[in-house]
Amino acid sequence: MTLSIRPELTTADQVLSSLVTQTKPEVTDADMMQAVRTLLIGLGEDPDREGLKDTPKRVMKALQFLTKGYHESLDELLNGAVFTEDANEMVLVRDIDIFSSCEHHILPIIGRAHVAYIPSGKVIGLSKVARICEMYARRLQVQERLTIQIADALQGLLKPRGVAVVIEATHMCMVMRGVQKPGSWTVTSAMRGAFADDARTREEFMNLIRHKPSFS
Ligand SMILES: [Zn+2]
Repeated sequence: MTLSIRPELTTADQVLSSLVTQTKPEVTDADMMQAVRTLLIGLGEDPDREGLKDTPKRVMKALQFLTKGYHESLDELLNGAVFTEDANEMVLVRDIDIFSSCEHHILPIIGRAHVAYIPSGKVIGLSKVARICEMYARRLQVQERLTIQIADALQGLLKPRGVAVVIEATHMCMVMRGVQKPGSWTVTSAMRGAFADDARTREEFMNLIRHKPSFS
């Protein structure tokens, strides 16, 4: 049997989706390209020189791709891939690549997510765990919120005994500007249910994400 259950939307999600639907029709592609052109002029460039001629279009397309998660929903993404299964041991998907953009500077956040849950009657296709991470990453983010959104999505979908999400990431706004700290990593975590309540379960998860498999 296949079940698909919509998780509770957070208030932040509701605000965001109303913002998206309110603003989208009023801003055309031409408006966005014009905005990039204005930026180029403000930076002291000549937007009509050969190398920059198509840059406004390219920047717009790139930003649309990097934020395509605004136009995706959990329902569409899962497409019914929640299954009833009598499993109750930890499921861990680690080293999921994260390419996100910080909402303060629209610069890349690059890192990895490790996601675990302990099922309570329902499981999800493993590739869907990565797709959930990607959907939230492809929006303007702060790493803390991204971590929480992934944990809450799984908690809402599967009502598992616990969810753990750890993201390790480097922020280009810190590396390339500001404090200029190449090599600095930010680690965030969100623990729900058994992972929050039981130190041994949390420890098992932390050991598993530290472990390096011998085949890679
Ligand atoms: Zn930033």
